[in-house]
Amino acid sequence: MKFLNFQQLLEQRAESGLLRQRQTLTSPQQTIVSVDGKQLINFASNDYLGLANQPQAVQALTSAADRYGVGAGASHLVCGHQKPHQDLEEALASFVGREAAITFSSGYMANLAILQCLAKKGDLIIADKLNHASLIDGVRLSDADSTRFPHCDLAILEKRLKKSSQNKFVVTDSVFSMDGDIAPLTEMVAMCDKYDAILIVDDAHGFGVIGENGKGSAEHFGLNQKQLPVLMATLGKALGGFGAFVSGEKPFVDYLVQQARSYIYTTAMPASIASANLANLNHLKQNPKILAQLKSNISYFRQQCETFKSAGFPVTILPSETAIQPIIVGDNESLLAINHRILEQGFLVGAIRPPTVPANSARLRITLSASHSHRQIDQLIQSLTNAFALQQKEVNQ
Ligand code: PMP
Repeated sequence: MKFLNFQQLLEQRAESGLLRQRQTLTSPQQTIVSVDGKQLINFASNDYLGLANQPQAVQALTSAADRYGVGAGASHLVCGHQKPHQDLEEALASFVGREAAITFSSGYMANLAILQCLAKKGDLIIADKLNHASLIDGVRLSDADSTRFPHCDLAILEKRLKKSSQNKFVVTDSVFSMDGDIAPLTEMVAMCDKYDAILIVDDAHGFGVIGENGKGSAEHFGLNQKQLPVLMATLGKALGGFGAFVSGEKPFVDYLVQQARSYIYTTAMPASIASANLANLNHLKQNPKILAQLKSNISYFRQQCETFKSAGFPVTILPSETAIQPIIVGDNESLLAINHRILEQGFLVGAIRPPTVPANSARLRITLSASHSHRQIDQLIQSLTNAFALQQKEVNQ
């Protein structure tokens, strides 16, 4: 058997504007980052609260490394579960108002675990079409049947629920990672109740961002543990650290400890990371002003975007109230050209193309952080205006 022709495959990707590229940062993750010797204002990270460098978290990490070393040395069930993991789990559960929580080394692994453990052969998973890749892969990993419903389309979701007599799970992101919109969880909870289905919510982009105290979608919608029995969130986004957790009733969490393959068969996250996560969680609890700052930046961006909108460029700015603010450009080539111009002007934003997003919906994914200043937001909007104006001029020539 021959190896695939990787060179040719890469060239094909490049020709269709789909080659993904990594940039190497030589600075910490922060508002101004250093990339290839160039200083860029960063509107691309998920560090929504600007906690990736929070001094007390760095301090907690180094002290825990002094005490526990650099690696957990084993999986949780063997002997890798250390006090910082335990403390973090308890603090997270109490923060989101759940009985218990289990931490995972990543959100990707947490989602695989949830779907592998809950949905069994003969069950039906009904998933939003725009769910995160880790949920999609979790569905693939489970033995259950699955079907998808058009993004946030409650009428079709209800039809699917009504039609099936199987055990049913409804799976959704709370805040969609590429669109920034919020799933209608109140209605989904009512539907799950009516059709006896279990709702699974991935709160990766809601945790630390929405809700009065940043507790995420449960707080935003006022939903308790009975209504949202399976709540997952990541620690590598708003919390500025690394890892993820799943929370809910204690027996459910204990069952994950027993059965989740992506928990059992992997090394525990370093205790130092668990300590840093806990320090940032405490920082968020004690400093509500950072969340207020993020919320203020989101409204300021939306407000200032009106000027950009009034220029009438052929783009769609999605109506997001969260830290994720996408501008849909359409084709890959135009997106890359615009992104290049923005980069030249000193801004780093996400340039997202298919298959991460549907065909012809390539987009700039602007992410806001509590650490941005209003002036930096103004500068970004000016840069976007310049880049789109130049692009339009070129197209019309
Ligand atoms: N769920 C969603 C909605 C995400 O956006 C992400 C990360 N992009 C994940 C899960 C995976 O989280 P992690 O990065 O911790 O693996």
